[in-house]
Amino acid sequence: MNSPVTFPPSIWAVTSPPRVPAAPLTGDVVTDTVVIGAGFTGLSAALHLAKASRDVVVLEGQAVGWGASGVNNGQVIPTLTAAEPDMWVARYGDTGRRFAELIGASAGMLFDTIRAENIQADAEQTGWFQPAHSAGRTKLSQLRADNWQRFGLEAHYLDRTATTDLLGSDRWFGGMLAPSGGHVNPLALARGLAGAVESHGGTIHEQSCVESYVHDGIKWVVKTKHGTVTARALILATNAYTGELAPRLAKRIAHSIVPVVSWQMSTEPLSDEVRSTILKGRQAVSDTRGDLRFFHYDRDNRLITGGAILGEWNVQERMAKKAASNLMASFPQLKSPPKMTHVWNGFLSMNWDRFPRVHSLGPNGWAWIGCNGRGVALGSALGREMARAVDGEDTAGLALPVTKSHALPFHPIARRIAPYYLAWMKLKDHVEPKL
Ligand SMILES: Cc1cc2nc3c(=O)[nH]c(=O)nc-3n(C[C@H](O)[C@H](O)[C@H](O)COP(=O)(O)OP(=O)(O)OC[C@H]3O[C@@H](n4cnc5c(N)ncnc54)[C@H](O)[C@@H]3O)c2cc1C
Repeated sequence: MNSPVTFPPSIWAVTSPPRVPAAPLTGDVVTDTVVIGAGFTGLSAALHLAKASRDVVVLEGQAVGWGASGVNNGQVIPTLTAAEPDMWVARYGDTGRRFAELIGASAGMLFDTIRAENIQADAEQTGWFQPAHSAGRTKLSQLRADNWQRFGLEAHYLDRTATTDLLGSDRWFGGMLAPSGGHVNPLALARGLAGAVESHGGTIHEQSCVESYVHDGIKWVVKTKHGTVTARALILATNAYTGELAPRLAKRIAHSIVPVVSWQMSTEPLSDEVRSTILKGRQAVSDTRGDLRFFHYDRDNRLITGGAILGEWNVQERMAKKAASNLMASFPQLKSPPKMTHVWNGFLSMNWDRFPRVHSLGPNGWAWIGCNGRGVALGSALGREMARAVDGEDTAGLALPVTKSHALPFHPIARRIAPYYLAWMKLKDHVEPKL
């Protein structure tokens, strides 16, 4: 009997419906598709396949939603951090266009799934707003809104007055609103997706860390400590945690990114009086800074926020102080910096150009990596897209911009210095972009 998995001490671990853990894999199992990792990507792929009556087995090293999917901020965002939609077309032509369109549709798709499967995840499709933190960035917000409109995403530019009204703060200069976005309780969503997979006939094994996978010329053979799964198709959905549980798993893919710690935290519930002056429309917000400011309400009117911090001393305490003072600076009506009741973190996968990567692993074998901090909607959409690929759809018509994986040179050093990238981002935050 395995002892229960310990989850990071997030507010989500307190407010999510519990899940009865699925049994670990034992013995030899034969299936159609094996999925490694039970975050949004793996669960979304498995759900699509189970609904298409494919036999699917998900192997999760820890527990459903234990990785980034269960600890993130919960913002459902239909754009990426760096790559603008036309950059995808410039890089990958028609496939890039399909990929940009998939990103634009991703938030709507996720909320549709939540509704269709009746998942209890405190989901609020109230829109995602990206306010501009400098006057020069308002031009960027306008261009971004226009660009995304061309790729099918409803996006509007809001001027300073409308921005102040939406936020309840005059500290931003304008911004882009994407009404299809919003926010969720991410751990509840992961658990809800897992329940949906199981109710459509898929199988999940938790505490089943995959130590290796190989294509033997006919089938994929995937090994855990106590069992083996043989399958026609394989989806590797381990993102930032690839190599964290089993260091030799997909080493080149694991070393193509750097896992970077992102801190999250929650305030106490705000009083109705204060709440009515901040984010009246309950949107999810992340601004244009590299040293990002982001927040939204949870179901109990706590503000869920976070950030990143330089240096390795007293990190949790300093981070909570920084996030509280950022909120205070934005919303003086809070009267004093809010107390953070829960502080936690997780890994996001960063790469040098902040373009997510899709890889073909072999016959009917797929992976993606490099969320760069945006993967709630995108991971779910890519899970579905990879499932469509293994389900026999012509990959030429899918939104899978496939590249070869390249390990970063001197990966251990890149891993150590990556957090200091924040210093560069902070510097850039003070410079107006050339547009
Ligand atoms: C703190 C934080 C805040 C974030 N905030 C946001 C946000 O607000 N909005 C947004 O869009 N994105 C956000 N992101 C990014 C987003 O959470 C991720 O991109 C997304 O959850 C990735 O989902 P996934 O399923 O691909 O990977 P994960 O959820 O990380 O799942 C991978 C799973 O693979 C498992 N695994 C690893 N190795 C093995 C193995 N050998 N065998 C079996 N299983 C294995 C892990 O245990 C894990 O459960 C945030 C990320 C973090 C860390």
